[in-house]
Amino acid sequence: MIDTSQLMVSVSGVRGRVGEGLTPEVISHFAAAFGAYVLRRGPGKTVVIGRDSRVSGPMFVRAATAALQSVGCDVVDVGISATPGVQLAVEDLGAAGGLAVTASHNPIEWNALKFIGPTGMFLDAEEGAEMRAFLDGEIPRAGWRDLGGRTEDDGAVQRHLDRILAIPFLDVERIRERRFHVALDCVRGAGGTIFPRLLEALGCTVDAVNLETDGLFPREPEPVAENLGELEALVRRTGATVGFATDPDVDRLSLVSEEGRAIGEDYTLALAARLVLAHRPGPVVTNLSTSRLLDDVAEAAGVPLVRAPVGEINVARRMQMERATVGGEGNGGVILPDVHLTRDAPVAAALVLQLLAESDRPLSALAAEIGRYEIVKEKVARPRQPLDAVYEALAARFPDAEADRQDGLRLSWHGERKWAHLRPSGTEPIVRVICEAPTRDEAASLVETLRAALPE
Ligand code: MG
Repeated sequence: MIDTSQLMVSVSGVRGRVGEGLTPEVISHFAAAFGAYVLRRGPGKTVVIGRDSRVSGPMFVRAATAALQSVGCDVVDVGISATPGVQLAVEDLGAAGGLAVTASHNPIEWNALKFIGPTGMFLDAEEGAEMRAFLDGEIPRAGWRDLGGRTEDDGAVQRHLDRILAIPFLDVERIRERRFHVALDCVRGAGGTIFPRLLEALGCTVDAVNLETDGLFPREPEPVAENLGELEALVRRTGATVGFATDPDVDRLSLVSEEGRAIGEDYTLALAARLVLAHRPGPVVTNLSTSRLLDDVAEAAGVPLVRAPVGEINVARRMQMERATVGGEGNGGVILPDVHLTRDAPVAAALVLQLLAESDRPLSALAAEIGRYEIVKEKVARPRQPLDAVYEALAARFPDAEADRQDGLRLSWHGERKWAHLRPSGTEPIVRVICEAPTRDEAASLVETLRAALPE
C-alpha cells in the first residue's frame, strides 16, 4: 500500500515534498494507475510526459515512464517543458493523456504529478474519480510482449511557439517594429526553454536573469510582487519597457512596469483580457477569488463576466460551456481558447506585447486606466456548525449582497464595488476570508464585519 498521509492528492494531481512522502514508489503507483485509466479510455495508448526543471524531475520522470510502460502505454518524453507545452503536445500528438512532473510555483523541495486528459486539459472531478478506481484497486500490468515503448520528442517548444505566433489577432510585424526592450526572470524554471525564443521571434531586445533550467531557484519561485525585487532592479537598470516573470512551470505570468514596479498578478489577466476583448468581444470566465479589475474590463467591453469555482479545470470547463473568448485566474494565469484551454504564460506575454504595440502609453498607465482595488485575506477558526448553515445565515444577514454558493460563499456588492469570498481550507480547521474593495480600509472593515457575523 502507498502511504498518502504526507501527500496532497487532488483530482488532477498528487503533490509532496521530495523524500518526505513523495518517492519514486509513490510516483510510480500514481503513474501506473493513470496509465491504466487512459488505456481504458483511449484514444490509443500514447502518453506524453514532460517536466519542469526541478532537481528531482529526471528521477521522477524515469519512475513514471517505467510505470507507464509496465501497463502498456507508449511514452513520448518532451523533456523540460512548460506545463502548457506538455498539454499542447498531448493535443498535437493525439495522445491518450499526459503527465506533467512539476510542483508549479511551490518551493524547491516539492514536486508533483499532474494528470492531463486527451483534450490537453487537466482531469476534472469526474475523470479523477474514474482514475481513483485504479489507484485504490488492482492495476492491470502488461506481460513482456505488451510492454509500452519510449521515444523522445524535441519539437514541442517549436509547435507551442508556432501556435502562439498564429493567434489570429496577434500582429507579429507590428510588435517587431516596436523593438520592445524586455526584462525577463524565469527563476531557473522551464521558462528558459521557450521565453527567449518567443521574445526573439517578436523582435524584442532581452535582458534576462535566471534562464538556466537547473531548478536551483534563487528565490521563492511564486511570481508574486514581493518575490520580484531582482526583476524590478533589472528593469530600472536597463530601462526596459516591461518585465516578465514566470513560475517554474510557465503557466503564470507576472508583470513589472517600466517604472520598475511589480504591478501585481491580477493585472496580467485584466490587461490580456482588455486586449482580447477589443478584437473578440465575448464572455469572460474567471474564478470566484479573482479581482474585480476583470469585472471592470468586461463591463467596459460590454460583455458578461462569469465566475467558476477555484481551480484551473473549473475555469477551463466553464469557458467551454460559455464559449468564452478569454479567461483565467487572477494569479497571472491567462487562458486563450485560440491556443488552448489552459493557463499559458508565453501566451499571456504575447498578448501584453500586442497591447503595448497597439498603444502609445506605457504599461503603468494602461494598468492605472483599468483601476485599482485592495485585497485583504484573513484566516478565521472554522465554526462548529455545518458550513452550509453558516453560509445560509450569512447570506440572510446581508440581503443587499448577491450570494454565490458554487464554492464556499461569495457575497458581492456591485454598486459598492466590493466582494467577500469564504472557503474552508482543505488542510487546516480554518475558513479563509478574502475581501476586495476600492480601498484597504474598506476591504479590512468588510473582513471584520464578516468575522463578527460568523457564529462560534
Ligand atoms: Mg504553475
